[in-house]
Parts: sequence; C-alpha cells; structure tokens
Amino acid sequence: MVAGDAAHATAPHLTQGAAMAVEDAVVLARLLASGVPAAMVGSRFMALRRERCTFVQQTSRRILLAEMATDLDPVRQRLDRIRELPARTAAIDAVLGERAW
Ligand SMILES: Cc1cc2nc3c(=O)[nH]c(=O)nc-3n(C[C@H](O)[C@H](O)[C@H](O)COP(=O)(O)OP(=O)(O)OC[C@H]3O[C@@H](n4cnc5c(N)ncnc54)[C@H](O)[C@@H]3O)c2cc1C
Repeated sequence: MVAGDAAHATAPHLTQGAAMAVEDAVVLARLLASGVPAAMVGSRFMALRRERCTFVQQTSRRILLAEMATDLDPVRQRLDRIRELPARTAAIDAVLGERAW
C-alpha cells in the first residue's frame, strides 16, 4: 500500500500535498477500523482517494503550465487571466472544501 507523495506527488501550486497525505492517512485508518476485509482495503482505498488526488495533481499542473505560458502571452490575455482568477479559485475551493471521507 502506498499513500501520500509516494502515490501522488504533485506540483506545488495548490499547496495540497501534505493535505492529501493526511487525508490518505485518515481514510486508511477509517477503512481499517471499519471491518473491511484486508484483501479489499487496497481497492476501497483507491476508489475513495483516486478522484480527489487526481483533481489536485491535474489542477496544480494546469496552474504550473499556465504560469509558464504567461510570459509569452500578450498583455490583454494576461489581464483576462487575472480577471478569471477569482472564479477559478472559487471553483477549486469548492471541490477541496468537500468532505474527503
Ligand atoms: C518546499 C515545500 C513546501 C511545501 N508546502 C506545502 C504546503 O504549503 N501545503 C501542503 O499541503 N504541502 C506542501 N508541501 C508538500 C508536502 O510537504 C508533501 O506533500 C508531504 O510532506 C508528503 O507527505 P508524505 O508523508 O507522503 O511524504 P514525506 O513527508 O516525504 O515523508 C516521507 C518520509 O519517509 C522517509 N523515508 C524515505 N525513504 C525511507 C526509507 N527507505 N526508510 C524509512 N524512511 C524513509 C523520509 O525521510 C520522510 O521522512 C511542500 C513541499 C515542499 C518541498
């Protein structure tokens, strides 16, 4: 069984690496305490964690790529990106604010 950075290291742009590692630990502890047969723990853990960790990895990567591309954008496009930021941030916060277990 792997969890935390060993399972889903991510670009740092959402500052969620440690958060995901702690969530992994809580979900795993709850699974083990719930009486799920040991042979099923790995697949249940994967089913519970994959989508959320993938969201963090993909969103962090998108921000990283956007950040790197920004220098090549004309000023008008950069301003458009800045105007979009609050809505984008709110959408990300909404996902991360959901219960993880
Ligand atoms: C500069 C920086 C800033 C960060 N800021 C944030 C932030 O603001 N918010 C956030 O959520 N995340 C942040 N992170 C990410 C966060 O630190 C990691 O996602 C988190 O520490 C992952 O925890 P982990 O337990 O999976 O791995 P780790 O913290 O890397 O723990 C793994 C442990 O295993 C030990 N180890 C390795 N190999 C062996 C071995 N063979 N035998 C025994 N022990 C071994 C290591 O020494 C280490 O202590 C940051 C990371 C960095 C580098």
